[in-house]
Amino acid sequence: MFDSPVRHHNEFIRIASLDFVFTHILKYENGLAVYGIICCHLNNVLTFWSTKLEKSLFLAENDFHNSSIRHIKWFQITDELSWLLVFLGNGQVYVYEICNYPHVQNSFSLWLDEDFACVKNILLQNISNNQCLILFTKMAYVVIILYSLTEKKIVSTKREMIPKTAIIPGFTFIKDKQLLILVTDVGKFVCMYLSTTESEVNYTINIVSHNFNDKVKYFTCNSVVFSKNQCMCALTFQCNMPRYSKNDGHVRNKVVLCTIPENLVELESKILLVNNYNYGDVIDCIETLRINKINDKSNELYEVDRSWLDKCPIQNLKLIYWKIVFKSKKNEQDETILQELQMLLHVRFLTSNCNEKKKIKNEEQYYYRIMLSNYSQKLPAEYILVKTDAAKFIRSFTQADHTYFCTTCEQMILTFTDYTMFICEFEHKELRCPVTLGPLGIPYLVCSMCFTMANVTAKNQSCVWCFGKYIPNKLLH
Ligand SMILES: [Zn+2]
Ligand SMILES: [Zn+2]
Repeated sequence: MFDSPVRHHNEFIRIASLDFVFTHILKYENGLAVYGIICCHLNNVLTFWSTKLEKSLFLAENDFHNSSIRHIKWFQITDELSWLLVFLGNGQVYVYEICNYPHVQNSFSLWLDEDFACVKNILLQNISNNQCLILFTKMAYVVIILYSLTEKKIVSTKREMIPKTAIIPGFTFIKDKQLLILVTDVGKFVCMYLSTTESEVNYTINIVSHNFNDKVKYFTCNSVVFSKNQCMCALTFQCNMPRYSKNDGHVRNKVVLCTIPENLVELESKILLVNNYNYGDVIDCIETLRINKINDKSNELYEVDRSWLDKCPIQNLKLIYWKIVFKSKKNEQDETILQELQMLLHVRFLTSNCNEKKKIKNEEQYYYRIMLSNYSQKLPAEYILVKTDAAKFIRSFTQADHTYFCTTCEQMILTFTDYTMFICEFEHKELRCPVTLGPLGIPYLVCSMCFTMANVTAKNQSCVWCFGKYIPNKLLH
């Protein structure tokens, strides 16, 4: 069985005529990756190899089917179990279960019709320890298969034809919601809510309308890419109209970026759940939020509930702040609310900073006292908790004293109520750090998300205004 390729010259002859090669990581041996390589030959024979350190070992060969093999795909189902999916030229799809590579221990078919159509999308999703879903699309069909890993058999198959589409260019599956989102060839979203039992899979269908109908009237959607956080996708469209002349140099294809409507609710909770090391995901989410707000035509007014804001966690406060920041058309009321939220965020930041730090320098205590007193006067009376918190630190910093002189004219600076800059009576300006409230020395830091600046002592601290953290400013290095 495990013949050496050196002895079998025939193998090399066949490899010369191979159609395609498929590689996947099999396992790690002493930290080195062992690759499984499957070569597909023109005579529909697959040869299996294992490769470590650029040395390939021939393992086995298998004549898979009478029809030509169009494509193969390797899926790791569990730690022990892998599936080799074989897509044939006649449209049939087979699964070969492999526990001990390359030996096939079980096989079954996913699609038996000889329709000569290819599978456009396929996804495998474990939904419990003993069940997995196989989802794929073919022409206008979506096929949902429930497979029992313990019984090693298909327990339920559902086939649904999506109306008014020739193909399904793309789909995604949101596991928590058991929601399958399909995109049709006119760019319409179709949601399928799945429900599974031990022996069956059922679903309800909901067609979601989108707001870019007009933009893609004479176009056909041919591919869809979903973002990592599943909140956003890019749809590519190809023009249906024939070119009129050789000189017609107009771009005929377009890409539409859009948020996935059903998933927006999750977006907010994802932002709120962020831990400090996962900025990529948050930036992705914030970007989606931004695009969503730009497209938002509704003129909803934000209702200020101050007693709620007074108690709400700082992350939620930041989210509300950003939601309003991103509104494309801000009215006067939005601007007022933004100013109020900005003050609120800064007070919350300063007081939590005091709570966390054991030792605060004298000058910092002084700046904090002045700033907190100023904010306390400006904030409406409903912010009871926030004001009580501020009052506590204003009291404990009463002894702190400090004088600061203008760097340009050396005059003493008299007011410290603008957190963005020190301004002397001759209007000389100097930047301030929102974290220490002291001068902003160079090299300063910038927030990884909103690019506001901070002093070097704030390194790796979370940003006052958003979900980013202060990191060295690359432009200065
Ligand atoms: Zn000055
Ligand atoms: Zn920021």
